[in-house]
Amino acid sequence: MRWFDGNFTSRRRFLKQAGVAATASLPLMNRLAFAGVFENASPNASARPGITNRAPLAQNAFYLLPLGSVRPTGWLRNQLGIQASGLSGHLDETWPDVGSNSGWLGGTGESWERGPYFVDGLLPLAYLLDDARLKAKVQKYIDWTLTHQPSDGMIGPASNNDWWPRMVMLKALAQYEEATGDQRVIPVLSRYFAYQLDALPGRPLRDWGKFRWQDNALIVIWLYNRTGDAKLLDLVRLLHEQGHDWQAQFADFKFTEPVTPETIKLNDGHGLGDLALSTHGVNNGQALKAAPVWSMVSNKDEDRRGLQQMLAALDKYHGLPNGMFSCDEHYAGRNPSQGSELCTVVEIMFSLEQALAILGDATLGDRLERLAFNALPGTFTDDMWAHQYNQEPNQVEVSLHRKPWTTDGPESNLYGLDPNFGCCTANFHQGWPKFATSLWMASSDNGLAATAYSPCEVRTMVRNIPVHISEETEYPFRGKVRIIVNPAAEVVFPIRLRIPAWAAGSAIRINGQPILSSETGVFTKVERRWKTGDVVEIHFPLTPRLSRGYNDSISIDRGPLVFSYPIGEDWVKLRDRGMTADWQVFPNSQWNYALNVSEKTVRELSMKETPVGDSPFSLKGSPVTLKVEARKVPSWRAIDGAADPVPQSPVTSEEPVETITLSPYAAAKLRITAFPQLKSG
Ligand SMILES: [Zn+2]
Repeated sequence: MRWFDGNFTSRRRFLKQAGVAATASLPLMNRLAFAGVFENASPNASARPGITNRAPLAQNAFYLLPLGSVRPTGWLRNQLGIQASGLSGHLDETWPDVGSNSGWLGGTGESWERGPYFVDGLLPLAYLLDDARLKAKVQKYIDWTLTHQPSDGMIGPASNNDWWPRMVMLKALAQYEEATGDQRVIPVLSRYFAYQLDALPGRPLRDWGKFRWQDNALIVIWLYNRTGDAKLLDLVRLLHEQGHDWQAQFADFKFTEPVTPETIKLNDGHGLGDLALSTHGVNNGQALKAAPVWSMVSNKDEDRRGLQQMLAALDKYHGLPNGMFSCDEHYAGRNPSQGSELCTVVEIMFSLEQALAILGDATLGDRLERLAFNALPGTFTDDMWAHQYNQEPNQVEVSLHRKPWTTDGPESNLYGLDPNFGCCTANFHQGWPKFATSLWMASSDNGLAATAYSPCEVRTMVRNIPVHISEETEYPFRGKVRIIVNPAAEVVFPIRLRIPAWAAGSAIRINGQPILSSETGVFTKVERRWKTGDVVEIHFPLTPRLSRGYNDSISIDRGPLVFSYPIGEDWVKLRDRGMTADWQVFPNSQWNYALNVSEKTVRELSMKETPVGDSPFSLKGSPVTLKVEARKVPSWRAIDGAADPVPQSPVTSEEPVETITLSPYAAAKLRITAFPQLKSG
């Protein structure tokens, strides 16, 4: 069991041993020592669990634990290491927009969203890895922001007064306060929000800020829970009033077709108007948290239901098999040759993490995992030195060739430094670290909840007792999750275990004894007197399943993983880009397969498992593959590098039967994910 990573004093090492040895009969001295471990690990007492929504806000189902309470282990820790060794850990050295001339460091360079985006993701990465080099990089931004607040309370570069980029920096500052307890943060935020409350009536939200108000409101609520200043709730109400009404948009959803430049008046010379912004992918991804955030203030069930209403419409009209909705970069329908922007992937993930805490809806965890294990890693090179702007479920070529995108430019699916536009370059960093932070949450009845599964450890306080949890698993590649609970003293509390909607037949054992759990898509609550060394084992049956999409196409899932046919790849460097490069990828094998599989026979597909290695989302390191019978469909082709829409199923084919191997979606950088289904018989 490792309590800490990195550099620790011998005293901490001693305390660590005391913690590991903790038992119910722990002598007082050792118990204090145990508490000391937690003191050192999370110096900010105010950030510990116990910060719940302050009246008159409605209570959440769960509360995110402060940054640093949940730490990745196993393959997830490794993945964060890949990220730190890749573009995340070096972006400021090679991309001037977040380099030393950034406006957010007092320079004359980029002064809008890119600096804050970078810090919002690099900060949790740095603290989860306890990486001094990365911490120093973010500290420069944090220090400049905290020490350059003018007397009126504004924050950020004086060269613009746009509310939007500041909304991003607010998220970074809140995480920083949780990780470090730096006492400068809360006064700076308090002054800024007083300024904002005063200034908004005369300079209301507009453009991006108007459509992203809920991210601002989230941090105002964060501060209100710490200071109790009632004016902060006035500010939340004002942001809601001035912000776009997302719930109204989805109560009567009109964008049931792919959006065209004409329908959103893109070319009328006035930039992105409200119609364009309301159909914009990233705005919608961020907006998934709008109704849940507002429900904390309104305490209305209709607001708590708003998110599912929004998801249902996005799935129905724009849903893709990788868990995304299409957005290239506005709603683009269900054709799996359309794209989704990386910013949208990470913003949906962040929205789902926040919404899951507020609502306690287990199905949001299913969706979060689907993105984290498929769409997120699938849009990066294995080493995370290059990323796409748009990814496609049926991605048969990555090139400048043709633009299937409704509004994006020709570079959009290159793997590179800043294909199409640099927002994703600055913003992608938050995906993995915030996912790791959200794996466990505190529940409002003073317990804990396993909200998404991956290897990790948790250090927190439950009912004033230090509790350490070690989650050992190779999920999502394997179905076994082993959770070892180590409270410093015996303590009664509930642990909620998320049972995914796909996980019928899951088995839970506590210290070897089975417990009853038959429902799926819910949290199973286990309340008992926990003592050191208690073991919870969950076995999720990872039986392959069929899901249906565009033109009745089929996709194969196994647990939270989506499977794709990996097309042979020829990587061709387009150009060097400082420390990285831009790449095109051309197919060197055929891909136009229809599958001979049904809802019933999919369960019997042959699976091959190999050890989960250092790079589980790479093709050569795929820990699981599936074999399936297929025939080529000669009429299904690509035009200039974009696959034709998948033919209407069922299809017939006279081509020979072949057995093809499918890999996890993320491993296949050229792929088919939505297949036609062969007519049976
Ligand atoms: Zn982007």
